[in-house]
Amino acid sequence: MTTPSLPDVETDILVVGTGASAMTAALTAAEHGARVLVIENSHLYGGTSSTSGGVMWIPNNHLIGPAGGSDSEAEALQYIRELVGNSASDTLITTFVKRAPRMFRFLDERCGVKCESLDVYCDYHPELPGGKPGYRSCQALPIKSGGLGRDIATLQEPHSGTTAFGRINWTAREAHTLVTQAKGAKTLFMRILIVYYLDIRQRFKTTRDRRITGGGALIGRLMMALKQRKVKVQLSTALKDYIVENGRVVGAIVSNDGLAQRIRATKGVIVGSGGFERNAQLRDQYLPQPTTTAWAAGVPSNTGEPIAAAMRIGVKMGNMGSAWWAPGFKLADEDRSRPMFVERALPGCILVDQDGKRFCNEAASYHITGGLIAKGGAKTAPCWFVFDARYRGKYNLGPMFPGPAKMDDWLRPSMKEILKKSDSIAGLAPQIGVPKDVLVATVERFNGMAKVGKDEDFHRGESMCDRYYSDASVKPNPSLAALEKAPFYAIPLYACDIGTNGGIQTDEFGRALTESGAPLPGLYAAGNCSASSMGKAYPAAGATLGSGMTYGYIAARHALGIAD
Ligand SMILES: Cc1cc2nc3c(=O)[nH]c(=O)nc-3n(C[C@H](O)[C@H](O)[C@H](O)COP(=O)(O)OP(=O)(O)OC[C@H]3O[C@@H](n4cnc5c(N)ncnc54)[C@H](O)[C@@H]3O)c2cc1C
Repeated sequence: MTTPSLPDVETDILVVGTGASAMTAALTAAEHGARVLVIENSHLYGGTSSTSGGVMWIPNNHLIGPAGGSDSEAEALQYIRELVGNSASDTLITTFVKRAPRMFRFLDERCGVKCESLDVYCDYHPELPGGKPGYRSCQALPIKSGGLGRDIATLQEPHSGTTAFGRINWTAREAHTLVTQAKGAKTLFMRILIVYYLDIRQRFKTTRDRRITGGGALIGRLMMALKQRKVKVQLSTALKDYIVENGRVVGAIVSNDGLAQRIRATKGVIVGSGGFERNAQLRDQYLPQPTTTAWAAGVPSNTGEPIAAAMRIGVKMGNMGSAWWAPGFKLADEDRSRPMFVERALPGCILVDQDGKRFCNEAASYHITGGLIAKGGAKTAPCWFVFDARYRGKYNLGPMFPGPAKMDDWLRPSMKEILKKSDSIAGLAPQIGVPKDVLVATVERFNGMAKVGKDEDFHRGESMCDRYYSDASVKPNPSLAALEKAPFYAIPLYACDIGTNGGIQTDEFGRALTESGAPLPGLYAAGNCSASSMGKAYPAAGATLGSGMTYGYIAARHALGIAD
């Protein structure tokens, strides 16, 4: 850096990033009496974590029993091992299973991060040994924005895909009731709308909802706990390089609002800087092709700089080709992609590749479906999400609210731009560049299977996971309905990611490893900047936050020399 330097700063623990992994590390260290400095390259804090659903997957946690569920270390281990295989070391997996419940209890009982266990949110593969029909996925309880004081102004806003109408916050429980149009959905919908619009004082000021849910509530609670412990969170400060002395990382060189500064950390640097999803060069080098930063759904500030800096000092990388995948689409007037978490499982839609053929169970977890799109290469870049007027009339799709086809004229221009439409399936085919006969045959075959409720090709709607976001009023299979009512529509989907999850290879204490496999003293990593303890798998909703936060907690304790 050529800009003038600021005076050096010293702290015990330097935490890089303000996502859930970093903030959990900072809070753990502060609660144990350490001097902690948190730096964040963006002018906003919270990272993708704050914009997310904020669901954390914590198997065998202390809220499960009181909520009516049951779990055990043995079941969690069996389940994760089955899914992860050899894509993460068994030590990382075992440590996650043992420590995640402790981290979660610590945040709850000592730091005020109050959560609930989601009883009906099933694991993504509940039929596997050790899989569960609910309870392991948890969410922070909502907070009021006023509780954050002035810090509300710099909290990352929710991703538009995790709110109702792009602005009204909802919890995972509410989203499930509303999306599936379950009993009580209409009353709930009215209540949410009334509470939002009758908050007159807030409505005069901003469209931002006073009730903060999901990732915002999680980050908000962590921030409040950090502030109570007088931890400094310094925004617009980016890590550029690590300072290495005598084989130990002793601090970092940062750009503080454009000015170079050295921060010395006597007990360790803990990196929680998210993935490299916004780094075109690393994407091109490591992710399945084709790929582009435009397909990232995470915050634009996740540039992977701390990962690249770690490479420069000889840190070992793991699982760099891996990401938390999701099928998604990109609107020209938004700065990030919209992952499709729920829409694919609702009846009346299919996904086809460029040959016009289905290639997956559309209702499977977003990671499975998105992973298949990534694997499909050019043949699925894009693939097409095809649906009919009945689907259009009943379900929400991105910024497109349910309604009749005549409302299409009033759609947002960016949505209109990607939406293809025709009075027949045959007419849709040339618009999306797939062979007409094949697409017609695909829809005909699908319609036949939908009517009897059995997807012979991909078994859609058979797993409890497929049905989580399906429509219970549709029989015999709540995820299947024929595409029969004109007009027919299609939008292009890509291999969107909600964060890459390969990076700094760590051991079971969160220590960065060198190429030789030995720990590099003083450097720790947690969350998406590290090679995840979930390997290439995505066991359930919240697996990314749950594992990242657990390793943030572990890293802070190790850096401070706290015994298990
Ligand atoms: C719409 C959406 C919904 C999601 N819902 C869920 C969910 O419910 N549950 C779940 O488990 N996962 C969910 N995810 C995925 C999840 O949000 C991410 O995997 C997770 O937030 C990553 O957390 P992290 O702590 O690793 O980093 P992040 O939350 O991404 O934070 C990293 C931070 O580091 C900062 N940073 C980057 N570089 C530097 C630097 N050089 N110096 C200083 N700071 C830097 C970034 O600006 C950022 O603030 C969702 C993702 C999206 C997009």
